[in-house]
Amino acid sequence: MANDRPVRVRIAPSPTGDPHVGTAYIALFNYAFAKSTGGKFILRIEDTDQTRARSDSERMIYDALRWVGLSWDEGPDVGGPYGPYRQSERSQHYKDAASKLLDAGKAYRCFCTEDRLAKLRIQQQAEKATLGYDRHCRDLDPAESRNRAAQGEACVVRLKVPVSGPIDFQDQLRGVVSRDAKEIDDQVLLKSDGLPTYHLANVVDDHMMQITHVIRAEEWISSTQKHVLLYEAFGWEQPQWFHMPLLRNTDKSKISKRKHPVSINYYRDSGILPQALLNFLGTMGWSFGGDREKFTLAEMISVFDWKRMSLGGPVFDLAKLTWLNEQYIHELTTEQLADALIDWRFNKEFLLKLLPLAHKRIKRLDDFIGVTEFFFTGDLDYAAVTTHFAIPDVAPKEVAKAVLELVEKYEAREGWEAKTLDEVTQAWVTALGWKTKHAFMLLRVAVTGRTTSPGLFETMGVLGKEITRRRLRKAAEVIAKLPAPAAAPAPATKSP
Ligand code: GLU
Repeated sequence: MANDRPVRVRIAPSPTGDPHVGTAYIALFNYAFAKSTGGKFILRIEDTDQTRARSDSERMIYDALRWVGLSWDEGPDVGGPYGPYRQSERSQHYKDAASKLLDAGKAYRCFCTEDRLAKLRIQQQAEKATLGYDRHCRDLDPAESRNRAAQGEACVVRLKVPVSGPIDFQDQLRGVVSRDAKEIDDQVLLKSDGLPTYHLANVVDDHMMQITHVIRAEEWISSTQKHVLLYEAFGWEQPQWFHMPLLRNTDKSKISKRKHPVSINYYRDSGILPQALLNFLGTMGWSFGGDREKFTLAEMISVFDWKRMSLGGPVFDLAKLTWLNEQYIHELTTEQLADALIDWRFNKEFLLKLLPLAHKRIKRLDDFIGVTEFFFTGDLDYAAVTTHFAIPDVAPKEVAKAVLELVEKYEAREGWEAKTLDEVTQAWVTALGWKTKHAFMLLRVAVTGRTTSPGLFETMGVLGKEITRRRLRKAAEVIAKLPAPAAAPAPATKSP
């Protein structure tokens, strides 16, 4: 099993949002393993789901991974012998692969309409039967199926999954993982628009790119049986499988942006050093040896061994990250610390964004820090300004909920310019029926900690997506705990 081939591993992020710490986590272990074995680390962009792909996301993935210090040997931007490395440029490979399976009788065309599938689902729900495709088209005569497709009838291509029996694979971290084929649907491989599903594209690419070890997050375990079936159907050698544990919040739930910032950019913007973030991720489920928690990437690579991995859900504990960061900061030379601060905020690029907002508020240069201080600080202290969080006649819990909804709306819109933020916010206030002046004051205080500041949306624009969202979430936490205002006293009634 893949032991005799030179090690080639990959990460395969989908460009659907902000670069996730989970991507850096998986990238780190792929990278460390590749470097410890003299292998290659590949970056592939899985952008087949065009409805979810976001144009700025791919670039943010590159920037974030490079910022933490993980660079790839092959990838869309650096090329390599097995390109292209962006799935949207590889459609023909997937079509060819699907044809191969059709010809071999391992896959079939399914002409069932959305309408039929919806009715089937309703019927299965009513009968409390297992949900899933009923294999209606599985035994269609191949010649008829070819003709119908040739005449332009819409169809998908499905894998012929065995009807029953165990489907096993050996997970290198977990042992044998087994699932009964009964639980697995005849997986769609090619959609009616001719584009592949994740499963087909992922397996075809891993094979064509000669990936020897698939090291990915635990959430993909249930896909792996389908992948194993695909490898068997194609007659290809399987890679070795490693499913890394999910990162968890302190309450052990799956890491989520509601409890923690999950974008790598947040950590960059809030002054975490890349080497501290990598070290922190390296302690997630993996032990350097002894009780040593602080180690560099080079040190991790020098002792890298899967035996040091344990699967109990690693907790993404911000206090520990800050502690590690402190160690790294303290051991920098003064010169290096100056460079780190320059990289972070004290650079011309950032100042050129910030100064238009501050320029006309400054009479002397020494006003600058006072006017702009909240661009350089972490979480704000709202204790002295909570009265400005009140919206007349709205309970604080409702206000907090609305603020969180606004954060969601910002997330759903691509781009982070003042104009977009303004539009989204205006629509939000109008829908709530709140007075703009109240809503804007609340947001200004949440984002700056003050009642006066440069233009609200320009300020958010320069603060950046991550810090703005973090402050709004933190403010919502504070608002939710505010006491509901006492009801207005009833008007005094005149005694007769
Ligand atoms: N595109 C998948 C993701 O977004 C890749 C999963 C895998 O590594 O197979 O994580």
